[in-house]
Amino acid sequence: MADSTALSSKAGNLQKFLELDQKGKIIAEYIWIDSVGHVRSKSKTLPKKVSSVDELPEWSFDGSSTGQAPGDNSDVYLRPVAIYPDPFRRGDNILVLCETWDSDGTPNKFNYRHEAAKLMEAHASEHFWFGLEQEYTLLGPDGWPWGWPKGGYPGPQGPYYCGVGTNRVYCRDIVEAHYKACLYAGINISGINAEVMPSQWEYQVGPCEGIEMGDQLWISRFLLHRVAEEFGVQVSFAPKPIHGDWNGAGLHTNVSTEAMRKEGGLKVIEAAMKKLEARHVEHIAVYGEGNEERLTGRHETGSIDKFTYGVADRGGSVRIPRQVAKDGKGYFEDRRPASNADPYQVTGIIVETLCGGVN
Ligand code: ADP
Ligand code: MN
Ligand code: MN
Ligand code: MN
Repeated sequence: MADSTALSSKAGNLQKFLELDQKGKIIAEYIWIDSVGHVRSKSKTLPKKVSSVDELPEWSFDGSSTGQAPGDNSDVYLRPVAIYPDPFRRGDNILVLCETWDSDGTPNKFNYRHEAAKLMEAHASEHFWFGLEQEYTLLGPDGWPWGWPKGGYPGPQGPYYCGVGTNRVYCRDIVEAHYKACLYAGINISGINAEVMPSQWEYQVGPCEGIEMGDQLWISRFLLHRVAEEFGVQVSFAPKPIHGDWNGAGLHTNVSTEAMRKEGGLKVIEAAMKKLEARHVEHIAVYGEGNEERLTGRHETGSIDKFTYGVADRGGSVRIPRQVAKDGKGYFEDRRPASNADPYQVTGIIVETLCGGVN
């Protein structure tokens, strides 16, 4: 793991302070998404324990420092939308996920949640479930994948996927810590696995209904960055972190509606394929920055130029799991979204394409 020079704190010294009594006050960590899809956060002391998001005050930050507002009108407002137990501070302390709003009362340009929440609300009767597979790469302070030889490469892909053992997996302690932190925070994390490229990992969140999918994924990303920070390791969500014969990183998006999960659901899934095909270009536009380097038709991806789907096909845009085809009902997997895609935009456009807009 990271040597001590990479650490910003000495855990042993810190411990006695973490255990100090807070005298009944609680700390709320307000979290939001900035202009480049990274998380930001700041802390607020509250007089007493909070049990619902409605009890939390609005807050604000300097949007000119995050690329979210001009310098001459820099206040951006934080509206709490969901709370989670804080695995770092524990006790009654909480994490607070926020939407960003401008001073004129309109959603901030980078507040993708607002539109998605309207779509989810409008089509709530469909009972959309999502499951996201978040792939990511762990990098050392030098920006090169953790554990790779300096300026060089490890042996070719093969032994690393779901790997076990030295020289097969790297940074399992971060992965394990993140898993526990997610469970503590109440994130519906459904599993983890080591990926095809060494130092690349995946975790899955879901199934979650409607807007909760985006909320939970963003908190899980916050937790990952925050855990990795303690180990002096960087998290990269780049879709193709290393060029050449190395797998990219995606955000496979598993989707179902109530009709798809019921008898005869396969017909509903097939009808959905036609709709997705017709809006391929619009989907790709919000499926992540740099995705063209990943969707090459190689390394278990489909081509970015063409929508394709098939049963058990990991080289297409959408895969219908074999079990789903066999059962005649279930869900489909949209394999196009890149690891850095915004889950509000991804789930939002899927609902819009399958069900129409908000009116
Ligand atoms: P893969 O075989 O593609 O690696 P994973 O097991 O990593 O699949 O992820 C599958 C995801 O699909 C999980 O997040 C799971 O919660 C989700 N999922 C399972 N059933 C449904 C469903 N009916 N609707 C939506 N998502 C689902
Ligand atoms: Mn998976
Ligand atoms: Mn994977
Ligand atoms: Mn998958």
